[in-house]
Amino acid sequence: MICAIGIDVGGTGIALALVTSAGAILDRREFPTGDYDGSIAQAIAACRELGAVHPVAGVGLCCPGPMNLQTGEILNPFTMSWQGRNPVKDLRDALGLPVYLENDADAALLGEIRFGAARGYDSAVMVTFGTGVGGAVYAHGRLLRGEKKEYPEIGHMPVLPDDLECYCGVRGCLEIVASGTALLKLVELLDLSSIDELFVESDKTRKFHRRLQNLMSGTAAILVRCYAPGIILLGGGVIDHQYEAYARPMRQQIAKMPMLPPGGTTIARAQLGNDAGLIGAASLVFSPVA
Ligand SMILES: [Zn+2]
Repeated sequence: MICAIGIDVGGTGIALALVTSAGAILDRREFPTGDYDGSIAQAIAACRELGAVHPVAGVGLCCPGPMNLQTGEILNPFTMSWQGRNPVKDLRDALGLPVYLENDADAALLGEIRFGAARGYDSAVMVTFGTGVGGAVYAHGRLLRGEKKEYPEIGHMPVLPDDLECYCGVRGCLEIVASGTALLKLVELLDLSSIDELFVESDKTRKFHRRLQNLMSGTAAILVRCYAPGIILLGGGVIDHQYEAYARPMRQQIAKMPMLPPGGTTIARAQLGNDAGLIGAASLVFSPVA
């Protein structure tokens, strides 16, 4: 059986897996994200180890954006220390295999469309709440791209324009209000013991709950009106623990909206968890997207 290797490069950790063409993970490796040269050397060694067990047709790599999909260069000065480096070229040269690159949010949505919660839908949007907030849009076999294959950044839409200012240049985007990083800052600011406590209604947390409600209902309205998706998936580490707090305001908002796409828009939890990016990236080897 020919497999592919999926590599998911995150801000704190790198996960690699040997993945079948049916999206099943056969073996995996994980290590912390370090400086570029050290991390790539570790990734190459892990690919060789995994490739020794099964023949490998290629490597699919996903990273936080921005990046140049044509050259493979990482262009992310915000959340990665890999800026200006080219993992596609370095992995290809070392392994002699084709290497595909995708933004992590798009890879995760591709995984969910091909093997997870969005199977069978013509169109889907996924929003991933982790350290940052990523998003991706899929319609009729294609991931939505902008000019020069740029990605829409759903995590940085100004949903609450009177709220905090983000490094992205707008106020009140999803990332500055509701990412894992934003939640941790709020826990500190409100002198709470944990993120879980932030999600329990109290005098201290009431204002946050109202903000989150407004943020997520606004997000649902924008996504439904702009993309008319059959399904909106929520994923990421924050959603693993707080799915209902994020999903409920979206469902309530959608229930109030006429002119939906036929059959309405479903809100659902991503199914493949942290493996969505890995599996989606690996699937590029067998079936690349335009
Ligand atoms: Zn932002």
